[in-house]
Amino acid sequence: MDDARATGSPPDAAAAAAPWTCPFCTLLCDGFGVDAQPDGSLRLSGSDCPRARAGLAQFTATPDTAATPRINGQPATLDAAVAAAARLLRRSRLPLFGGLGTDVAGARALYRLAERSGAVSDHANGPALFTAARALQDRGGFTTTLAEVRTRADLLVCLTRPSDNFPEFFRRCGVGDTSLLAQRRIVYLGLEPEAALQGLPGVSVETLPLQGGDLFTTLSVLQALCANRPVPGADAALVDLSEALAAAHYAVLVWEPARLGGHGALAAESLHQIVNTLNHATRAASLALGGNDGAGTVQQVFTWLSGLPTRTHCSPLGLEHDPLRHDAALLLARGDVDALLWVSAFHPVAAPDAGLPTLVLGHPDTPACAAESVFIPVATPGIGHAGHLFRTDGTVLMPLRALRGESLPGVAQAVAAITAAFESVERVETA
Ligand code: SF4
Repeated sequence: MDDARATGSPPDAAAAAAPWTCPFCTLLCDGFGVDAQPDGSLRLSGSDCPRARAGLAQFTATPDTAATPRINGQPATLDAAVAAAARLLRRSRLPLFGGLGTDVAGARALYRLAERSGAVSDHANGPALFTAARALQDRGGFTTTLAEVRTRADLLVCLTRPSDNFPEFFRRCGVGDTSLLAQRRIVYLGLEPEAALQGLPGVSVETLPLQGGDLFTTLSVLQALCANRPVPGADAALVDLSEALAAAHYAVLVWEPARLGGHGALAAESLHQIVNTLNHATRAASLALGGNDGAGTVQQVFTWLSGLPTRTHCSPLGLEHDPLRHDAALLLARGDVDALLWVSAFHPVAAPDAGLPTLVLGHPDTPACAAESVFIPVATPGIGHAGHLFRTDGTVLMPLRALRGESLPGVAQAVAAITAAFESVERVETA
């Protein structure tokens, strides 16, 4: 496991001088700094983003050297914990890899271990990933980047309040910067706008009520109107919006898969159809906000390595992708899996207590669950080690730099060590 400790070296001077990329949401802002305070805390500078501040509050300027692996609740060496993790996976006939809060290197290592151990994998944000992937698989879509929104989008239609979960969204999009665009119109469907938008130069903000009080109905009506199909009883405001969408130079529909609920893929499909229709005559796109805590990154990495996204079982018979059957919550509730590997490197999130042998690779402050068998504390990408994450627009891979040197392994190093030990452990047949 000596290699696993290699991330403990302090970041070099060039890396320390590079901009910090915030890993706490998929906007991955790289224009802010972090100052170490005399009391040991890390303070964000250049932004008052509450999400980043909360994220940084989970760490001190001095790494927690007291973080120790555990086996059955007792302190253990890292090598012993790795060996116990490998034995746990060897005993399992169908392990679940859940949480999956990690970066590109961690995801690559996890996929390799999933292949070796015959695991099924699902991210903690699996339902939102499923909503986005299902709509894209069924209909395809025109998507955009933050840079295009910033320089070209004169009409934003928001199906969510973007800055609730992505606090710097409007600043990243240059909203209020009239040197980029003199005028922007922002329309919320059934939602109150964020107060921070009021009074920004060149920005008009309004809310339209949902037709029939329902988002799916509203999108369906809007879709028909954009296709020039008459809709008896359509709200006049929606008729006006369809005309504004057709007249816009570049309309962008902003949505958040995690906020669409259980049958969100239906609404997402309508949204994609609106964009598709508009592109026959003008330019329009959708922008999905999501993929936090490594969700978007793991989805990309698993897909490029195997051709299939998460919720895939690496079975001895081959890859079985079933986004409904391989929902982690469902697998746990039904008792279809017999071990859990839980990964949460960004936040101290406890593993679900499913009564299964549980191996946790987590933030050092992760609370133990009752079934915890092995715990290995890991460093956080962008705090304790360098790494890479995909931005919310999916086409930009952002480098992360370490804020401080740590002795803890990253997820990639810990999983690589477990995989090596797994290969050398004799398979233990269960009764
Ligand atoms: S908006 Fe997201 S990436 Fe930007 S500073 Fe806040 S948490 Fe970090």
